[in-house]
Amino acid sequence: MLSKVGTWNFDIFLFDRLTNGNSLVTLVIHLFNISGLIHHFQLDVVKLHRFLSMVQEDYHSQNPYHNAIHAADVTQAMYCYLKEPKLAEHLSPLDVFLGLMAAAAHDVDHPGVNQPFLIKTRHHLASSVLTRWRPPLLCRQDVEQQLGSLILATDISRQNEFLLTFREHLDHQDLDLQLAEHRHFILQIALKCADVCNPCRIWKLSRQWSERVCEEFYRQGDLEKRFDLEISPLCDQQADSVSAIQIGEFRGFRIIKSDSNLEFNIYLIFNVAT
Ligand SMILES: [Zn+2]
Repeated sequence: MLSKVGTWNFDIFLFDRLTNGNSLVTLVIHLFNISGLIHHFQLDVVKLHRFLSMVQEDYHSQNPYHNAIHAADVTQAMYCYLKEPKLAEHLSPLDVFLGLMAAAAHDVDHPGVNQPFLIKTRHHLASSVLTRWRPPLLCRQDVEQQLGSLILATDISRQNEFLLTFREHLDHQDLDLQLAEHRHFILQIALKCADVCNPCRIWKLSRQWSERVCEEFYRQGDLEKRFDLEISPLCDQQADSVSAIQIGEFRGFRIIKSDSNLEFNIYLIFNVAT
């Protein structure tokens, strides 16, 4: 299976079963290896394995959607983007490391409900998405800062800000991937795209993600009903069918055509709860 890890129809659900629920650890170690990162940074594979196991365990396996399989899926999509020749030729080993690591850790400890729900119920996580991200103490400051900045880019409330900046860069054709700052921005955009790429997968996979994300929404709706709170949009099982939710998401789905110097397909979904 791993020989097809760079293709968009990679079946992460099958891979998770074949690895006994260790898709995230197994995938990231493999990607680090084939990207030459283990060799380049002289990484201790035992320590890497231990760290990734901690990350994997910090995902809530009871979440239908925001679990370690989603993290593995986003990491695999991120790898597909990083492999795009126009991007790949400019990326340093550190960029690749940051891109893959940020994807693997971006939803760590996700509670399976959205931000507004946490605010309504005054959950301790509500203050910031950052609290979901606890970087390893051994990370060097710059690496830690960059990882944090990549992960925070997946916060859906900042969607328009990123989209606007990206649109401006495309209009002015002024993205220069020789610049570390621009590479970082493109990694942020790539991670955002990887995070919401479900509808771009083959139907067999895309359908499973739809069902999972709706199941997670409905569970939140049931909780809201139980606590007599207003039911959030898309979370009412009686009113919002799986197909209606997905159509709603697709309506907000736009393709930014690759007419710039960046010819990799970039898909951005608006109005989708990540
Ligand atoms: Zn995510």
